[in-house]
Amino acid sequence: MHAMARVFSGIQPSGELHIGNYLGAVRNWVALQDTHECVICIVDYHAITQAYEPALLEARTFDMAVGLLAAGIDPDRSVLFVQSHVPEHTELSWVLNTVTPIGELERMTQFKDKAQRQESVLAGLLNYPVLQAADVLLYRADLVPVGEDQLQHLELMREIARKWNARFAENFFPEPQAMVGQARRIPGLDGEAKMSKSLGNTVGLLDPPERIWELLRPAKTDPARVTRKDPGDPEKCNIYTLHQYFSPPETVRHVASQCRSAGWGCLDCKRVLADNMAATLAPIRERAEALKAEPERVREILGDGAERAATIGRETMRTVRAAMGLMPAREVTLRR
Ligand code: SF4
Repeated sequence: MHAMARVFSGIQPSGELHIGNYLGAVRNWVALQDTHECVICIVDYHAITQAYEPALLEARTFDMAVGLLAAGIDPDRSVLFVQSHVPEHTELSWVLNTVTPIGELERMTQFKDKAQRQESVLAGLLNYPVLQAADVLLYRADLVPVGEDQLQHLELMREIARKWNARFAENFFPEPQAMVGQARRIPGLDGEAKMSKSLGNTVGLLDPPERIWELLRPAKTDPARVTRKDPGDPEKCNIYTLHQYFSPPETVRHVASQCRSAGWGCLDCKRVLADNMAATLAPIRERAEALKAEPERVREILGDGAERAATIGRETMRTVRAAMGLMPAREVTLRR
């Protein structure tokens, strides 16, 4: 048993982080490092289960690593690595496929949604949650920060762990628990339910102040504020939500009262937010610039992370293979 509870978090290599990922997830991972053992994985093998551009994947993976490190993931305390660098993820995934009922995979909401939009459904999309289970179980992690939309996958992961345990080794894989409050959904600048890169309604975590202002200026606000004189309801406005993350409490109170009394216009309100956001993000942007200037350093951190992850992963796979009766390879022929 590890001394501190172990948390596994995965993130897709989508390139640069945006404030939605940051506020919704990554910021919490940074805080969790004080109290938990964190394993943070850039899940490139998950990314390839959907249409993607091979020529861009490496750069997006690299940029994601830079973003995570700049945001405060500390490689001395946490294990940060790229999924495909640790082959035990796919090995365990294969093993877990052999105890996973296909019917369970077919009834996953995310699979159904995605499969519906595709002419030919690939096995990788169906088996995505098995790889997810392998990601977490490989480290025998206790906790997984997840959004509501991932709860079904987590439940399946627990079932897969139970099935494997029941068949091969009682209690070997802990059933990971969800940390639900840890992943919040941040509404988009266009008023859409979720900030997402593909919707183009985000602010990049590394955007400079001018760009932040360019993005906030046209952002959607409470539609009741048609003219400068119409009072608004801050609770109906995403700019107010963002003030709560980026502005000090007295400013948040001021925003609410200025909005309700039409004491200022939405542009005034956004200007204050843009300034506070730029100030909060400035040190992250500086760290990212320093890391980008030293790409070898980033690769070294990921290499070291992969080695630490693989040390745990190899140990798990040794036990898994032995319990399943697979013939041990001779030491000299071991791949690594
Ligand atoms: S004043 Fe601020 S909180 Fe109120 S609607 Fe405008 S942008 Fe939103």
